[in-house]
Amino acid sequence: MQIRLDGKRAIVTGGNSGIGKAIVMALGDAGAKVCINYVSQPEQAHAMVDELAARAVSAIAVAADISDPAAVAAMFAHVDQSWGGIDVLVNCAGIDGQHAMTWEIDPNAWKRVIDVNLLGTFNCARQALQRMTAQRSGVIINITSVHEVIAWSGYSAYTATKAALSMLTKTLAQEAAPFDVRVVALAPGAIQTPINQSVWSDPIALADLLKKIPLNRMGQADEVAQLAVVLASDVAAYVTGTTLFVDGGMTDYPDFSHGG
Ligand code: BGC
Repeated sequence: MQIRLDGKRAIVTGGNSGIGKAIVMALGDAGAKVCINYVSQPEQAHAMVDELAARAVSAIAVAADISDPAAVAAMFAHVDQSWGGIDVLVNCAGIDGQHAMTWEIDPNAWKRVIDVNLLGTFNCARQALQRMTAQRSGVIINITSVHEVIAWSGYSAYTATKAALSMLTKTLAQEAAPFDVRVVALAPGAIQTPINQSVWSDPIALADLLKKIPLNRMGQADEVAQLAVVLASDVAAYVTGTTLFVDGGMTDYPDFSHGG
């Protein structure tokens, strides 16, 4: 089955690196117009616009710190002016923050994770839902994590935001369903991207990580991106208010493959 998103207008936050970048390219290859939101490394975002243009895909790069409601409003206004609205929002921008036990962490660093991951998603979803409920169509995909459900010492802000995004997804889905708008979460496990480079570039840390993954390998960003295309499409027309885990079995309690 070939999935097409021709004519759909998408925004991908954090679209210039890691999983967000792969989602931008996959949506574009499926025929969508894509707005690449970024907050740093503009050269990366602009290179992607050029690469997509070479594939005859319309793309724009828009800088906006998603934790700032005014910057988010300006980004959506920019997309309105460019393409007349939005059909797909992928909330991918996220940070894992300072690695520290909660009693030692800088409170401002903790709050910054909440501001980007949770408030940023809310700011973008709010703008998108104003438009999608009015037009009575649209899809929001929140990129969460296995850490929706798996605790992770040293990352209490990160795990708290990912669990919160799970319930935000469900509640937004309930609110938006009467308008034929779907809201879903896509929860990656250990995907090989810059966010976890310190782990996959260290053989000892990598071996420890692989013990936590039944399929015994890290995932690739495109393995998440292809599912984002499915969820954005009408193939998933009956899917809303739920999380799809793409994690090689990480949430399948691999320690229970023996004993217990
Ligand atoms: C984190 C990665 C980590 C993975 C599995 C993700 O949410 O961003 O750094 O490898 O969870 O723990």
